[in-house]
Amino acid sequence: MKRSAPLRRGKPLERYTPLQGGAPLARKTPLKYRSAKQEAAYRVRRPLVAALLAEHPVCERCRRARSVEVHEPRMRSRGVDICDPAECVALCHPCHRWTHDHPAKATTEGWLIPSHDTTTPARAAAERRASAAWREQAQEAS
Ligand SMILES: [Zn+2]
Repeated sequence: MKRSAPLRRGKPLERYTPLQGGAPLARKTPLKYRSAKQEAAYRVRRPLVAALLAEHPVCERCRRARSVEVHEPRMRSRGVDICDPAECVALCHPCHRWTHDHPAKATTEGWLIPSHDTTTPARAAAERRASAAWREQAQEAS
């Protein structure tokens, strides 16, 4: 675009109309916590989470604390099926936090799986278990 006249510094922009005082938004129905599609997925997931936490009462990473959260190593943000038990891991809250706070370390330990990794969920779970068992032995030895 070619300007006919160069830009000049003038007086600052001014409002022609005053700001309107805020009346609350007139919603007739409250905002939904989840979409209908997401709610349908959670109806399937809830019993799965309960079963997984019952099956693994102790955190699968530290093997000390009670497991209270279900983690998806392939991450739901990358479109993993949250209703597939093979994609889920039972963790305690601190381990789940650690996993997402330290993605590089968590990836080398197998708690996060990169999107380009084509390892099957079962194989990844076996590797995680092996890595956790190895760490347990190392802790006992020290
Ligand atoms: Zn833990």
